[in-house]
Order: sequence, then C-alpha cells, then structure tokens
Amino acid sequence: MNTDSHPALLGSLNSTAPHSEVINFSPGPTSLPKAVEERIAGVFNQPGLTSLALSHRAPEFLEILDHAVMKAREVMEIPDDYDVLFTHGGGHGQFAALPLNLCHDQSDVATYVVNGTWSTRGVDEAKRYCQVHSIDGRDPKTGDFTHFPELTEENIDPNSKYVYLCSNETVNGIELHRLPKLPESLKHIPLVVDASSDFSTKPIDWHGSGVGVLFACASKNIGHPGLTMTVIRKDLLGEGKASPLCPGVFNYTTNSEAGNLWNTPATFNIEVVGFVMDWIEAQGGVYEIELRSIAKAVAIYDVIDSSNGFYGTPIENKALRSRMNVPFNIKGGDEEATNAFLIASWEKGMIGLRTLTPFGVGDYLRASLYNGVTVEEAQKLADFMRKFAAKHGA
Ligand SMILES: *Cc1c(COP(=O)(O)O)cnc(C)c1O
Repeated sequence: MNTDSHPALLGSLNSTAPHSEVINFSPGPTSLPKAVEERIAGVFNQPGLTSLALSHRAPEFLEILDHAVMKAREVMEIPDDYDVLFTHGGGHGQFAALPLNLCHDQSDVATYVVNGTWSTRGVDEAKRYCQVHSIDGRDPKTGDFTHFPELTEENIDPNSKYVYLCSNETVNGIELHRLPKLPESLKHIPLVVDASSDFSTKPIDWHGSGVGVLFACASKNIGHPGLTMTVIRKDLLGEGKASPLCPGVFNYTTNSEAGNLWNTPATFNIEVVGFVMDWIEAQGGVYEIELRSIAKAVAIYDVIDSSNGFYGTPIENKALRSRMNVPFNIKGGDEEATNAFLIASWEKGMIGLRTLTPFGVGDYLRASLYNGVTVEEAQKLADFMRKFAAKHGA
C-alpha cells in the first residue's frame, strides 16, 4: 500500500473506526463533551424558535445570553468589577482589539511576553497599532521557545499600557498553570491574557493576578468558532479611552454599554457556551476540570518520559508543560515510524494528532486534551503509545 496517500497522513479526521470509538485529539476546532453535543442536538428538535432563528433582541434570546454570562461568571469566579463580552473575529480579532482599546494612540507602549507562535502572532498584529516592547522566551542557543521568562522591573517597560501573555501556547506546549504576578512596583499595569486554549480548565485569580483583560476564542474548550469570550475589568472601559480608529465591533466600551447587543452577536454559539458552563458546573466545577486535565496530561507525559527516548517532548521543565496540548515525536521525528504511528492510531479512531496549522505541520505530533476529551480517552491514547513503542523497538 502506498502509505503517502493514506488519509491519516493527509490530516483526515474521518477515521474508518466505528463512530462510537472516535476520539478527537484535534487542537481546535474540536469536539465538545458528549453531554454538551447531545444538548446541542436537542436544540434542533426543540419546539418553537431556537437560538438559530431567534432575534438577538427577543426576550427568549436575552434569557439565553444572560444565562451564558451568569454561568460563566459563576464557574470562572469572575468578580463583579469585570464585564463579560462576546466578541467577534476570534483570537486574532482580539490581537487587534487589545491595542486598539487599551492604547489611545500609536505612540503608546505595551509589553509582550513572546514564548510561542500565538504570542508572536499577537505581537505582529499589535505592532500596527502601538509600540511593542517584547520579552523573549526562546532558548538563546537553539532559538526554540522553551520557557516563560520572568517578569521583572528590568524587562517590563514601566510606561506599558498593559503586559500581554499567552497562558497556554497551543502549538509549543508551554502552559502557565497559574498566572504570574507583576513586580510590586508595576502592579498598576493591567495583565492581558490570551487564554484561548486553556480557559475553563483551571481557576483564575482575577484580582490577585491583576488581570485587566482575558480572552478566549471558543473553539478549543468552550464552544464553536465564531465567538470569543473577552473579560475586561471595568476601569479599563470608558468614553475616549480607545483609539479613535477602533472599529465599533471591536470597541469594548461600545459593546459593554450595549450589553453585547451593539450588533448581532453569534446567537447560537452563545447558547453553546452556556451549555459548556452548565456542564462544567455539573461535573463539580473548574477545580474538578483541572484535576481531570492534570490526569489526562500525566497519562501521556508518563509514557513519553518512561519510553527511553522512543518518544520525545520539547518542554523539559515539567512545571511549564501544557496540560492542554502535549507535543511529542517518535524516534526523534523518524518519518517512517511517525507515519506508521499516525496510520495505526487513526485506524483505531484516534484522530487529530497531526493537523495542519498556520505554522505548518510542525516537528511534533500533538495530543490536545481539551474538555471534550475524557480521562479514559487520554488513557486509551497512552496505552496505544505504550504498545506501539513496545512493538517498534523502544
Ligand atoms: C487557536 C488560538 C488562537 C487563534 O484564534 P482564532 O479564533 O483562530 O483567531 C489564538 N490564541 C491561541 C492561544 C490559540 O490557541
């Protein structure tokens, strides 16, 4: 068989395994928890109009919107002095919206921690709207993103309108399991967090970490693409704070004042976020989700670490290893072994381990362990990896 054209190697997500056995390890968009997917299916069979057809100003939709906001507040312990916005344009929309809202003009400065592909993208976008001062998380020898640099008085520009970081670098596999605190003398600077791929999987100390803005595109852990949740501290809102060039759809103050109804929001997607928040609550809350996230990640990293080098993972510092996205290679990236792994796992229904990204296929495969993946499913992958290594000469 010519394996080069095998669907598993072309990134296909339609495994030949029975549907019930498919496990989606995609980095996003991806599957939501089964119970949430069932509720979504229920929307299509509901009598009367649903969030797919309701006007966004109808009382029935306002209830759906209020529910999603209220549950997100409860589950993520979002304090009252923060506003919850449903914004447009995905994570990339926020890359632009941040400087446009927090910098009044292009001469304003923002400090960016750059420790992976997504924070790099954030910088590329921000540079069009403000002066970017960056702190580097690369290994000085290899140039690879390996660490999260310390935040010190020396490396943060004290005039920064904000300090930006990505709490989980989805591609590079670096996660801050807790948000850092800025040095005492710089505490007045708001922290801005791209939590696109880890939001809802661990608690956030909003005040303690000095969070000013935190955003998460929905398509990893909390819903479907087309919606982003942006949480903003209210003192950062106000007439005349944003750049005069900030488009209305991106303007936090405009959208906050209009209660998320300045223009048509992604109505159905908002209902789905509410479903996910209900699900988290029913599981025992975000602390329980965190325990599961740890268990899933440990299952995979354990196989890697005990494989005598058969499997490799780029981040050595265990305190920084992502629980959400576990990058791994096989025999140092050996193509034949990698292809065999991809085909065998795909045929067993384990999909999404190598997907195409804006950054190419990358040197590593990646197991993404978002809310849609259960602990048992992560263990299945771990078992498969162990057996594969035994069979292929670990
Ligand atoms: C997926 C992702 C994004 C990109 O979001 P889009 O909705 O595709 O614009 C941004 N940041 C992180 C950390 C991500 O994982």
